[in-house]
Amino acid sequence: MTTNLSYVNQNTDAWMTYLAQIERVKPYLGHLSTYIDTLKNPKRALIVDVPVVMDDGSIRHFEGFRVQHNLSRGPGKGGVRFHPKVDLNEVMALSAWMTIKCAALNLPFGGAKGGIRVDPRQLSDAELERLTRRYTSEISHIIGPQKDIPAPDVGTNGRVMAWMMDTYSIEQGHTVTGVVTGKPVHLGGSLGRVKATGRGVFITGCQVAKKLSLPIAGAKVAVQGFGNVGSEAAVLFENAGAKIVAVQDHTGTIFNENGFSAVQLQQYVAQNGGVAGFEDASAITDEALWDVQMDIFIPAALEGQITAERAHQLTAKLVLEGANGPTYPEADDILNQRGVIIVPDVICNAGGVTVSYFEWVQDMSSFFWSEAEINERLDKIMRDAVEEVWAKATENECNLRTSAYIVACERILMARKERGIYPGK
Ligand code: NAD
Repeated sequence: MTTNLSYVNQNTDAWMTYLAQIERVKPYLGHLSTYIDTLKNPKRALIVDVPVVMDDGSIRHFEGFRVQHNLSRGPGKGGVRFHPKVDLNEVMALSAWMTIKCAALNLPFGGAKGGIRVDPRQLSDAELERLTRRYTSEISHIIGPQKDIPAPDVGTNGRVMAWMMDTYSIEQGHTVTGVVTGKPVHLGGSLGRVKATGRGVFITGCQVAKKLSLPIAGAKVAVQGFGNVGSEAAVLFENAGAKIVAVQDHTGTIFNENGFSAVQLQQYVAQNGGVAGFEDASAITDEALWDVQMDIFIPAALEGQITAERAHQLTAKLVLEGANGPTYPEADDILNQRGVIIVPDVICNAGGVTVSYFEWVQDMSSFFWSEAEINERLDKIMRDAVEEVWAKATENECNLRTSAYIVACERILMARKERGIYPGK
């Protein structure tokens, strides 16, 4: 795989993984494949310097990004990540996966993503607020409810979204709730948003498990990442009778073959900052996670976790990609050959962006729905997406990832074709 973009490091992972996924879908796109290069070039990438006055009076500079990968189908949509490993390559890939995801779910958005290279755990609350506000100000000319709508991702949350909304609103001179989603409910946020991504992982997982005749009751589930996505998915699987046997986060890996309570682990993590030390499970090494006996594996941490080697080790029958881009293309092939079914990220973790879409609609109309209405609409959209992707996979004799990409790329490239290239001949 190669790219003609001068600013991409050919040895980096995420963007090259995305390009490989796009190459795989190309043979299925017929005449629309003429436009495929649209998807290999982000429309717009902004790099910003974010100077922050630290609590001790010193000034530190952080590197920030906002990438709008494709806006053919509507405003950009995508989270903001605060993490020490954020770089342009990663943000580009994450923005591209948002393009695919919004189109696969038929949401009226393009794809975008942002981030700052920072470890938010090392900052005080006041420093984090100053960092967020300056970053928002630096990217404010390219975001907006009709342009590009950020949301939380790894290392950011409702509080960060509230600061972003407030900063943007101050610059506009009036309150603009629709500029970000994932806000606190009393600031124009949507009921159900916080739990939506984990819920979507559960809904899509159960639906595919049913097709595979894999019962959820009694199924052994292992989860990598126990934040917003992983912990909510684990709780829902536990409520449905599954056994949570292993969890890994940035503090370590815990295991109990008889299962342990995801709800109690959530409380423990809230108090202790991570899963390490949880009493009802034993500590194992991080690498040992990949050998644990399990039926369902939920990667819900970062991208690039399932390598070719780990794909050979994994005992799961079903992989539910809560994280974005957790599986390398070579690992994808190995899992496919081994008959392991993967519900790809662009469908599996789309619950969050779906309720973000609901939040944006509610903000635009200033009319808010009940949590029951939101969950009902979310479940329907997720189930319909799984059915559509499953049918496309059967029709094309391909796996669910390629099928989801066919559904999405057809929509994006049709929009590209019908809008035309400006200026024309
Ligand atoms: P989060 O910050 O709430 O949680 C991240 C979790 O990953 C934490 O438990 C952290 O300890 C763990 N982690 C970090 N580094 C790790 C490492 N090296 N090894 C193992 N665990 C590690 O983030 P989140 O919102 O739950 O997002 C998790 C994933 O889901 C990301 O890939 C994100 O892009 C994706 N996602 C999130 C949403 C959303 O609505 N939050 C939506 C779609 C996709």
